[in-house]
Amino acid sequence: MDIIFLGTSSGTPTRARNVSGVALLEEQGSAWYLVDCGEGTQHQLLRAPMSLMNLQAAFITHVHGDHCYGLPGLLASAGMLGRSLPLHIIAPVGIEAWIRATVQLTQLVLPYELRFVATEALEKWTYGNWVVEKTPLSHRVPSFAYTFTEAGTEPKLDTGKLEAHGIPRGPAWGQLRNGMDVTYAGRTLKSSDYICFPHAPKRVVVAGDNDRPELLREACRGAHVLVHEATFTKEIAEGPAKDFGHSSAASVASFAQSAGVPNLILTHFSPRYQADASRSPSIEDLRKEAAGNYDGKLFLAEDLARYRLSRSGELSRTG
Ligand SMILES: [Zn+2]
Repeated sequence: MDIIFLGTSSGTPTRARNVSGVALLEEQGSAWYLVDCGEGTQHQLLRAPMSLMNLQAAFITHVHGDHCYGLPGLLASAGMLGRSLPLHIIAPVGIEAWIRATVQLTQLVLPYELRFVATEALEKWTYGNWVVEKTPLSHRVPSFAYTFTEAGTEPKLDTGKLEAHGIPRGPAWGQLRNGMDVTYAGRTLKSSDYICFPHAPKRVVVAGDNDRPELLREACRGAHVLVHEATFTKEIAEGPAKDFGHSSAASVASFAQSAGVPNLILTHFSPRYQADASRSPSIEDLRKEAAGNYDGKLFLAEDLARYRLSRSGELSRTG
């Protein structure tokens, strides 16, 4: 899976950062998923390799504008490009009514179907190679994280072991492969002794705005990557911004450390943090604060940065 950031600023865009949008790309083919769609997301897409024709589903974490105001324009453009594939939109209650009203009041004719699912009612959403689940977070409005877990990592038969144990190729191999225990030459062969999984299912958690990272403990079990907002440094998050419902770089990093998440990508930075490390306050302040609380692989997202999660669960920046 690849992760491309389409926007990494909180609240308002800056010259270098658009508001929230994260794209998740399938390893093979051109299918992709979008988490949040701040205003201007479709402009960012023009600078990224994905096409609106291949967007499978859009997930919205919460109703605040910097996470969803880009939807109507993006949907309209997909229509003008001739999309016919239905689009799934998984979003908190309110988004469907808003989009339907916009479609109606602006006389927008879409040549494809919108299939809404209310996040509040979402149990497990299985699509393509992924199972998506939600976790309720803590913010000023209902906010959610989406966990993408790879489905169908195919078990493999350990043929070397079978041969070493003198079990010739035949129906027994198929039965063991299908999870059945088999009696062969007077002994019981346990399926679990002969099948292995080539790699652990990949798991990526993309969280919406949230001031209590510990709510993600269960979702982060076995996760390879956590994408989480770090809107402020601790001093601001616990001081002048304490009622805004956001996390500090320190609190997210400490949580990721305690949950054993190997890769942490921070995003959704307040525009007050400047890119130039020699100025104050800067993004570097957020990085230092997070790094001081976390031993794993830490990334601070930038717009259009691309990350690849390898089969073995290694995350690296590739673009
Ligand atoms: Zn936000």
